Amino acid sequence: MRVRSLWGRIEEASRPVHPTTRRVLDERWAALPAAARTDAQTVGRHAVGCEGTHGVFPRCNLTCSPCYHSKDANKVRVDGEHTLAQVEAQMRLLEERRGPRAHAQLIGGEVSLLDPDDHAAALLIMRAHGREPMSMTHGDFDIDYLRALALDGDGNPRFRRLSFAAHFDSLMRGRRGMPSPKSEAELNPFRARFVAMFRQLRREHGIRSYLAHNMTVTPANLDEVSVVAADVSAMGYSMLSFQPAAHVGDERRWKGDYRTVGIDDVWARLEAGLGQQVAWQAVQFGDARCNRTAFGFRVGDSWVPFLDPTSPADLNARDRFFAHFGGVNFGGTPPVWLTVKLLRVLRRHPGDSVVALRWAQRCSVRSGGWLRLVRSCRKQEVRLMTYVVHNFIDAADVAPAWQLMQAGRTTDDLAVAATRERLAACTYAMAHPETGELVPACVQHSVLDRSENAQLRTLLPLTCAG
Ligand code: SF4
Repeated sequence: MRVRSLWGRIEEASRPVHPTTRRVLDERWAALPAAARTDAQTVGRHAVGCEGTHGVFPRCNLTCSPCYHSKDANKVRVDGEHTLAQVEAQMRLLEERRGPRAHAQLIGGEVSLLDPDDHAAALLIMRAHGREPMSMTHGDFDIDYLRALALDGDGNPRFRRLSFAAHFDSLMRGRRGMPSPKSEAELNPFRARFVAMFRQLRREHGIRSYLAHNMTVTPANLDEVSVVAADVSAMGYSMLSFQPAAHVGDERRWKGDYRTVGIDDVWARLEAGLGQQVAWQAVQFGDARCNRTAFGFRVGDSWVPFLDPTSPADLNARDRFFAHFGGVNFGGTPPVWLTVKLLRVLRRHPGDSVVALRWAQRCSVRSGGWLRLVRSCRKQEVRLMTYVVHNFIDAADVAPAWQLMQAGRTTDDLAVAATRERLAACTYAMAHPETGELVPACVQHSVLDRSENAQLRTLLPLTCAG
């Protein structure tokens, strides 16, 4: 009896895809608008989408133009107890509704305004709910804060790996040492310093890191995207993400007409900066008007795509991956269990091993051959690199589309219908434990933030009465 129950537990733990993940993926796929159900679509076939926190620490100590937070955000006190209670409640709901594994951003105002112990506790809560957390920061903190976050009171590592997304651009004001940058290039020493802190942490304590670089793009800095793409790609970040500005949040911080900067404009500058095409069409997250993502790796100064959208063999490899490995939890499974899961898939689809080997061979050819790859690896010149553009929607467009969605209605208004489609395919969800609802981040920032922050301002005033 005991042997059978042990065998049952092993069988369950080594299932390639967790049953809840399977259910959530199927639900997401069924709910996607028809136009988003393409062969390249990741949502509903491999991923459920990303997640983020809200209302957990709305305050920030830098000033951005634009700023997506409502004007009350900076009047809310950063309060560890509130943060942890909210993170716990939001993550619990996300786990319940979206399954045991996802990537989630610890995002609010500025994460480093949290006490390091509270910051660490929030990350551990997220991990306990199966979330791979990423802290969103303006990057203006020192190694002392990083050490206090990463190490416990006895100086032992609390984490084996930390993930941060650092936002650097010339639209930000108040950074120490560069309060009012005149160009993107002036911020390069600060961008490099951020990476250097994490390298130091690894040298001293063995803690690895995954670092993303974020930049908001407006007409004022659009033409500097090329310089940023070229310079920052070589600094040690593993992702460069660009966000064309949207008219969201505090209207006092909107400068100019952001509608003039589109996703194609940014991508064109990115490619010009890298001096090469950056192919993204083989893989899609949600709606192509919202997201563009190119996965690959850098070898020396060049970027190599994992998938070439013009190669039928690569597209076949992608299709087989989605069909046979879609939903497998690669990042959050211990290596031994992951191996067993993969072997179970390969037992049913033995031809996939050959497809994978041929795909690896094509990647090596694209990167200049195995010899160059091995040499570059030895010199530590090979690094994963993902390029992203995330194109948020203007608040004025989100509000009517969200109303329709909630009422279960459609519309003949093409612009509102387009926004409704984008929201329905959203890849970035936020949780509301008080209603049990999950909402797109655009809805959170465009519709819900204002009243949420007004309430938080009363709950957590900056100064305590008496
Ligand atoms: S709806 Fe908004 S938050 Fe969701 S993927 Fe599109 S731009 Fe991003």
